[in-house]
Amino acid sequence: MSSTRRLSLSPVVFDQGSPRARGRAHGELWRPEIRELAELRLELCREKGAFLDREQVLAVARAHLPVLAAHLPELHEELVGIGEGADVAPERIVVLNHYTDLRDVPPSVVAEAETDGCTAIYLHGAAGPVLGQTWDMHANAEPFVRLIRIRDADGGETACFTLTGCLGMAGLGPHGVGVTINNLSSTDGQVGVVWPALVRAMLAQPDARSAHALLERTPLSSGHHYMIADGREFFGVECSARIKVLTQVGARAAHLHTNHCFDPVLRSHENVARASTTFDRLNMATTLYVQQRPTDLDGLWRLLGSHDGHPRGICSHLDEIDGDPTRSKTCGRLAMELWSGRMRAAAGCSRDEQTVELRVPSPPRTPVELA
Ligand SMILES: [Zn+2]
Repeated sequence: MSSTRRLSLSPVVFDQGSPRARGRAHGELWRPEIRELAELRLELCREKGAFLDREQVLAVARAHLPVLAAHLPELHEELVGIGEGADVAPERIVVLNHYTDLRDVPPSVVAEAETDGCTAIYLHGAAGPVLGQTWDMHANAEPFVRLIRIRDADGGETACFTLTGCLGMAGLGPHGVGVTINNLSSTDGQVGVVWPALVRAMLAQPDARSAHALLERTPLSSGHHYMIADGREFFGVECSARIKVLTQVGARAAHLHTNHCFDPVLRSHENVARASTTFDRLNMATTLYVQQRPTDLDGLWRLLGSHDGHPRGICSHLDEIDGDPTRSKTCGRLAMELWSGRMRAAAGCSRDEQTVELRVPSPPRTPVELA
C-alpha cells in the first residue's frame, strides 16, 4: 500500500456473537494489511529492540499469549481469532498489537531511536469534558489506521481508533469510559498483558474508577500513560512495566501529556531518546492551550492539529527530515465528547485528513456533580 494514499476512516462494525468470531471477521477483512503490518513491525522490533533475531522477537511475543489468556481471556480469544482470520500465527498478532512495548522486552536501551509519540489532552469545556490525542508512529503505519465499532449482544458499543489486526488503541466504551494512550519507554520491561487488550478491557468497564482499578491490577510489559475519563472522573496514570503512579486527577481541570514521565520515581525507569519531540510537544501544547483556551471538541481538534514548531510540532513530521518512513509522524487524531458519545477521528496529517464523526450510543446518564 502506498503511504501517500489518503484514507477515509469509514468505521467498520463488528457484531459477531463471540470474541473468536469477531476476531476472525477482523482478520479476514484486512488479511493482506495485517500480514504486511505484522511483518513490518516484526522487522522494526528486530532493528530497534535488543533482540538477536526475528525468532527471538517471536519467542518473546509468544510468551505474552498465556498471560493474556489468564488475565483477559475474551480478548485473548479475539486476538487468536484475528490471527486465524488473517492466516497469521498468533505471536505475530502479538507483535503487531504490542509493538511499542515489545521493543522494551527484554530490557533494552533504545537510545538512538526516537520514542513514538502521542500528545493527549483532556479538558472540561463549556458543554462538558472532551478527551483526545494525536497518534504518532513510524510513518509507514499510516495506511493501516482504522476506526472500528464493536457491538455487544445487548446493544452496547465500543468505538476504537486502531490499526488493522490491532484490538484497539484508544476510544470510547459502552458506558461512556474514554481512554487515550501515550507511549513511555521503560527500562524495566517484562512479559505482561498485551496493551491494546488492556485498553479494550478498560473501555468495557462501567466507569472510569473501575477502569483505573483494572489498570492497577494488570501486569504490564512496558510504559504507557493512560488518560481514563467518564465525564465525572478523570485519572491520568503513568506506568512503567512494574510501577504505576496516578499523576493527574480532577475532572474539572485540564490535563496534557506527551511521552515522558512527570513522576520523579518513574523518571528513573524511563529512557527518553535524544531525538524525541516529547518535551517540544508538551511545551507547545501548553502554550497553545493557554493562547487558544479550547472549550469544546472543535477547539481541541484544532489544537491537536497544530503545525507550530514544524516538523517537531504537535502534528509531527520527523519522517520528513530525512525521508525515512520508519521515523515518527502523526498518523492520526482522535477526539471524544465524553458527555455525548460523539467521536471524531482522522488518519494522517491534519493538513490533508478526511474527518469522520460518529456517536457511540450510551445509556442515558443522570446528571452527576463532577468531582
Ligand atoms: Zn501534519
